[in-house]
Amino acid sequence: MKLMIMGPPGAGKGTQAEQIVKELKITHISTGDMFRAAIKAGTEMGKKAKEYMDKGQLVPDEVVVGMVKERLSQSDCANGFLLDGFPRTVAQADSLSKILDQLGIKFDGVINIEVPRERLMARLTGRRVCKGCGASYHVIFNAPKKEGVCNTCGGELYQRSDDNEATVSNRLDVYEGQTQPLIDYYKERGLLLNINGDQDIKLVLKDVMAALKK
Ligand code: ADP
Ligand code: AMP
Repeated sequence: MKLMIMGPPGAGKGTQAEQIVKELKITHISTGDMFRAAIKAGTEMGKKAKEYMDKGQLVPDEVVVGMVKERLSQSDCANGFLLDGFPRTVAQADSLSKILDQLGIKFDGVINIEVPRERLMARLTGRRVCKGCGASYHVIFNAPKKEGVCNTCGGELYQRSDDNEATVSNRLDVYEGQTQPLIDYYKERGLLLNINGDQDIKLVLKDVMAALKK
């Protein structure tokens, strides 16, 4: 299946994506993870992206679109993929549509994880991410078995530099201004699957898998 997962920062996209790609045996493409990898590798693109990410702003469309186009052309996407964190603007969605046409790919659906804004600050400031495999934890809502250590790969957990109150607040405003319009965009195209993300992680997954089967 060729899918996209959307929702505000902290909705649980990464948490759900990890399970969905396992169940469906498809490739997870997270633009945020790709930027963090580029920053770690010290590339020019990483340096440029970091300036925006640190402020909670979006990286310019042309940078993201080029990166995604290249990624989608790789062979591990042929059997299916789940885009996570892309598109984030209407311009990116239009570019994606062109890329998919060029590559001859038919898009199957958009999973929209709905969580009220007042829940998101606590989710994001308590988030911890694995340095090794990128798995997402929460100090209270989804604590690892051993503090600071990833359950799956044993990697060290860290707090993302953009998961502080001031940057989160900007990211939520950016989501509402620039990304939320995509809900109508995909609804009009008959692709939107709304999922209640304000419930237990396992129940969210159950609802996602049920919606995909329909
Ligand atoms: P996103 O990728 O949408 O930004 P994450 O998947 O990283 O969000 O989740 C954000 C934080 O919220 C993480 O700390 C995660 O453990 C936690 N979380 C995810 N889903 C839920 C849920 N259903 N209930 C409570 N906390 C959740
Ligand atoms: P995420 O990991 O999805 O929370 O993304 C972290 C940050 O990476 C965002 O706040 C943006 O600065 C940047 N980013 C990720 N995906 C995109 C995108 N599609 N368009 C622009 N910026 C992005």
